[in-house]
Amino acid sequence: MATDIQTSELCPCGSAERYQDCCQPYHQGQEAPGPEALMRSRYSAFALQLADYLAHTWHPQTRPQQLQLEADTEWLRLQVLSSSQDAERGQVRFIATFREGNEWLQLSENSQFLLLQGRWYYLDGDARFTTLKPGRNDACVCGSTKKFKKCCG
Ligand SMILES: [Zn+2]
Ligand SMILES: [Zn+2]
Repeated sequence: MATDIQTSELCPCGSAERYQDCCQPYHQGQEAPGPEALMRSRYSAFALQLADYLAHTWHPQTRPQQLQLEADTEWLRLQVLSSSQDAERGQVRFIATFREGNEWLQLSENSQFLLLQGRWYYLDGDARFTTLKPGRNDACVCGSTKKFKKCCG
């Protein structure tokens, strides 16, 4: 089931745009114009539990048979480090921060994208997970300027 979001709220991908001006058009069927836009819209789809969109944008060769989204995963922050593309291939390096129960984790990945019949697809990536151990007085893992204990902690 999709997590509710108002179209006027900030987009989960962290672009500082409203959802309706950022990832929502892609979730509604518009083609993402390049690998970074697709990657951002897939991150937002994870945050909003849009499994169909994730399946739809996964390359047919690597698409999982069954896509299980963890209902208790809360996606907190996306940082796109770099992105590049040539005619038919793209790469996006990013860090995504999320919470699972009482654990805060970071996913670092260099994602590969392929253009197939005019549409970009996620191919695969070298996902690496790190457990975060934020101190209560540290800057919050979600990227806000608050202390961890006063924000997500
Ligand atoms: Zn977005
Ligand atoms: Zn926070």
